[in-house]
Amino acid sequence: MRDEELRKIKDEVLSCDKCLLYKDRISNKYYPVIGQGNHQTKIMFVGEAPGLQEAKTGRPFCGAAGAVLSQLLESVGIKREEVYIANLLKCRPPGNRDPLPDEIKMCSAFLERQIEIIQPKVICPLGRYSMKFLMEKCGLADKVEGISKIHGKLFEGKYLDRDITIIPFYHPAVVAYNPEMRDTLINDFKILEKFK
Ligand code: URA
Repeated sequence: MRDEELRKIKDEVLSCDKCLLYKDRISNKYYPVIGQGNHQTKIMFVGEAPGLQEAKTGRPFCGAAGAVLSQLLESVGIKREEVYIANLLKCRPPGNRDPLPDEIKMCSAFLERQIEIIQPKVICPLGRYSMKFLMEKCGLADKVEGISKIHGKLFEGKYLDRDITIIPFYHPAVVAYNPEMRDTLINDFKILEKFK
């Protein structure tokens, strides 16, 4: 059932031409990146948008940031296949620029449906855009602060009428330009041990 509903989202994303990222995707022969992982998971990760490697393969977090994410999961004994990984935007913004408000508005309906189908207990936004979007969506708008203030903290919210825990993390790509952040992320990920 979940598999089927998620496949339907995939088909819809493949034929979506609502924003300009679609044109860029077609002209570069990129794939959209819908999501990957366990459809029955308790834990879902939400990044921002596909990077180059992801757009070339259609798989989320398969490049340098993905290698960091895999190590972080491993550090708390969680296998990538056990969780579900998606993004706020499904198509790659040119040059890895930040998502635009209109793109978030148009694309986030897909993510919302993915959350409704998978019904995770915990959602971990990776980076500030997915953090802001998900906290607002889960009735936590008044708790939104800079990611440097609330990374690794646990927030109890509601997704539609379901209880949901939101734990924002720094985007794993920060480790590429600031290697010292690896320890911060490793420390933050420890909170996931109690949700395995
Ligand atoms: N960064 C993201 O936010 N998502 C990916 O899938 C890859 C890199």
